[in-house]
Amino acid sequence: MSPAKGSETYERSELVAAGWATPAHHYKDLPMPHTAAHTAAHTAAHTAGCLCGAVRITIDAQPMAARMCWCRLCQYLGGGSATVNVCFPTEYVTTTGEVRWHDSVADSGNAMKRGFCPTCGTPLFSMAESRPHLTFIRAGALDDPSLIGPQAEIWTEAAPAWAHHDPDLPHYPAQIPPVA
Ligand SMILES: [Zn+2]
Ligand SMILES: [Zn+2]
Repeated sequence: MSPAKGSETYERSELVAAGWATPAHHYKDLPMPHTAAHTAAHTAAHTAGCLCGAVRITIDAQPMAARMCWCRLCQYLGGGSATVNVCFPTEYVTTTGEVRWHDSVADSGNAMKRGFCPTCGTPLFSMAESRPHLTFIRAGALDDPSLIGPQAEIWTEAAPAWAHHDPDLPHYPAQIPPVA
């Protein structure tokens, strides 16, 4: 078995094989450049932000995947419950306002960066330093939290005893190993 990966990190090939993501060329084919000026001139595909409104996010791409994570670290971020993390290509994510980053090391040893609003504390971003091209946005920060639901639950072995797990979703005790 392959060594466990850090939470919230995915191989694109894994996502595509599972039907959760479109091939990379889909994003390269998008007509919208990701500069702030062009973002303002076009209707962003999706928007997000923090509770106090100091941080605003536009994403000119469709979500690649979403997962619910019960790892111990996510329980801190989620107020006791799991986090739901939606994956987007970083190059199409534009942010205004100050984001503070907290670095930590996942159980696997992967270095992770987690971004939040320093004014209201809303968790916004997660990113693996080894995969900076993928940005995970907390589903609760999306202006449309119904945009995409989780397609799997991961790290269920770390979940509290009272946790309820969706019987319709695949469950994994820890990180999902890569396909290849
Ligand atoms: Zn805020
Ligand atoms: Zn987690």
